[in-house]
Amino acid sequence: MSDYNILIADGLDERGQSILRSSATVADKSGISADDLLKAIADYDGLIVRGRTKVTASVMDAATRLKVIGRAGVGVDNIDLEAAKKHTITVVNAPMSTSLAVAELTFGLLLALAREIPRADASMKQGQWLKKELEGVELSGRTLGLIGLGRIGMEVGRRASAFGMNIIAYDPLISEDDIKQRGAEPVSIQDLFAWSDFISLHLPLNVQTRDLIGPLAFSQMKDGVRIVCAARGGIIDESALLDALNSGKVAGAALDVFGQEPPGLTETVSHPRLIATPHIGAQTAEAQSRAAEDIANEVLSALRGGSLRWKVA
Ligand code: NAD
Repeated sequence: MSDYNILIADGLDERGQSILRSSATVADKSGISADDLLKAIADYDGLIVRGRTKVTASVMDAATRLKVIGRAGVGVDNIDLEAAKKHTITVVNAPMSTSLAVAELTFGLLLALAREIPRADASMKQGQWLKKELEGVELSGRTLGLIGLGRIGMEVGRRASAFGMNIIAYDPLISEDDIKQRGAEPVSIQDLFAWSDFISLHLPLNVQTRDLIGPLAFSQMKDGVRIVCAARGGIIDESALLDALNSGKVAGAALDVFGQEPPGLTETVSHPRLIATPHIGAQTAEAQSRAAEDIANEVLSALRGGSLRWKVA
């Protein structure tokens, strides 16, 4: 008989499930509705989610024996951390597991923007040959502005350096020396806007960063700038982005994340110079396997009162 009951609320790779099953009774209820979660949660010591499940204060009020919530991935904005503190429920995540996957997707989006690869493919599938229209730009020699130079921003910077880009970065929580050590030139956010040919966002969404990229920011950017966001929806003001795309201020943008997900066929999503992907940054076989393994070990460690590598709250 195992001591712990663990509920999986969103899909978890088999690697993590087998680690959990070695020490706990596991209920895989991936895709569980908010109502069913509220009804079921009182039976569990551990809850594992990805980004879909909202772990609200009401869920925690109903979770009479819950000791730990594990997020198989990085962002914990779907978990009410204040409520978790109030109920002394530990929250852990798996921040190292998905960085490479997000960095690689970001790089794919940078290249797709520079060469309009999605448009080229779509036109071929309509029997067209737009060779003359599809003149892109090269990444080499261009300036890439990174906002946020943590795990993912740094990996994007390394790849961009290998492509011959000049890397500048704004990250107010990292010292100038550390930014230099991470391979970028530290700049103010205004200089980043003024100097970047490409901008990529790698910072968290919080009260300070919501709508950070709005009308004022766009007005400070170079004409024809290209922007990628695989961080969090809400950091870019999507209606200001639409205006900037329509005016030509922004030559192209690529979004993996949206203020509301799924966003549906909004004007921004359907804009011809916007590339949209359905929040697939962490969706690689390797990242999901690593995230599942990391979170399974961390959740079991929390239940046993062991040391934690990635305690968020
Ligand atoms: P991280 O914590 O390693 O790095 C984030 C960096 O942002 C830190 O260095 C921090 O100092 C900096 N920062 C904080 N506030 C800032 C501000 N106001 N301006 C500039 N920089 C600021 O996080 P990470 O693992 O690199 O993740 C970065 C982002 O990617 C997060 O938003 C995360 O949720 C997102 N993410 C997206 C996906 C996806 O599927 N698209 C997957 C994983 C992570």
